[in-house]
Amino acid sequence: MEKQWSTIFSAHGEKEKITLFGKQESDENWVYRKSIGDISDGEEVSSWEVALQQLEDYPWYTWAPQEVHPAFGKKVYRAVKEKLNTDVEENVNNLVSWAKRCFSEHESEIVTLAVWLQHAKHTTVLTGAGMSTESGIPDFRSKGGIWRDVDPQYVASVDALNDNYDMFHEFYTTRMNALTDVNPHRGHEILAEWEKEGLVQAVATQNIDGLHFKAGSKNVFELHGTIHRLHCDNCLKETTMEQFFKKEACSKCGGKLRPSIVLFGEMLPEDSWSASFNHIQQSDLVVVIGTSLQVHPVNRLPEMTEGKTVYINLESNGGHFDLVINGKAGEVLIQVDEVLKQM
Ligand code: NAD
Repeated sequence: MEKQWSTIFSAHGEKEKITLFGKQESDENWVYRKSIGDISDGEEVSSWEVALQQLEDYPWYTWAPQEVHPAFGKKVYRAVKEKLNTDVEENVNNLVSWAKRCFSEHESEIVTLAVWLQHAKHTTVLTGAGMSTESGIPDFRSKGGIWRDVDPQYVASVDALNDNYDMFHEFYTTRMNALTDVNPHRGHEILAEWEKEGLVQAVATQNIDGLHFKAGSKNVFELHGTIHRLHCDNCLKETTMEQFFKKEACSKCGGKLRPSIVLFGEMLPEDSWSASFNHIQQSDLVVVIGTSLQVHPVNRLPEMTEGKTVYINLESNGGHFDLVINGKAGEVLIQVDEVLKQM
């Protein structure tokens, strides 16, 4: 039985419409013919390149895509990308519209983020505990987070430090031991590579594990401090992990030793906060990764940009983002990086 013509792609301009039809011959090769408006061109061509050349007189790639054949998604997207001058903001939006038609929902989200990253002038990444779970560090709030039996708002607090130092000390001894031998995963490395390539200008993180620095990112702002430094809560003298593990008092004033992290009930470090704030304000793209956005005031940062916002997380948080990608941080970053390498 003779195979039917199918739409390979169609696009609408302000007044015009173009459709490229295709039909698979018995030898499995495709033949193509075009239709401008409702007038179908009888001429059949047997090469993809020639079929595209025949559309040369029409700027179809700047038009709104209507339909793309699933088997031709990549081919059509490549053709649009080659034609569009994406130095123009409107054309970046157009490329994203084509990506949405050319790929599956998840693929099109990945391609959209890659396109935005490539065309943004200033990108800030904001990360939370979900960025590090693939390195084996549990987060606080997901179902599998090991702190589900403990209230972090209490143990990681000024009250616990002042009134229940034994519990505070035990909690942070366990955390420090757990964080000593961890390594960044590929997602951390990709963010560091994007910084070198000029695709990312800053990483603001709520994580205290130091993994962004360990992966090679340089412009990192640790909004909640770091577990790799310790000091006396009273006189601020720096101390060592060994002294803390031995539960010693401060050698200078006898005060309580603690990690240099921000406890619930404390202010954020002014320098990291204002640097993160400034970066986010001047960003035209903010990518938020692996945070439940429940901890104040960091959860306000994504609203402080006029640029595009992206949320990569295992679960949706119902916030207002221009793009939400549900998935594991590392896996999503690897997928976006693969698309960027093909661009
Ligand atoms: P959170 O635990 O409240 O939220 C983590 C979010 O990440 C959740 O929404 C979860 O669904 C998501 N998530 C988990 N694994 C993921 C993955 N592989 N990919 C994508 N998303 C994933 O963490 P938070 O919002 O960062 O706030 C908690 C506070 O706890 C922060 O202040 C942080 O300092 C601290 N904390 C830090 C670490 C760390 O340094 N690694 C770990 C736990 C908690």
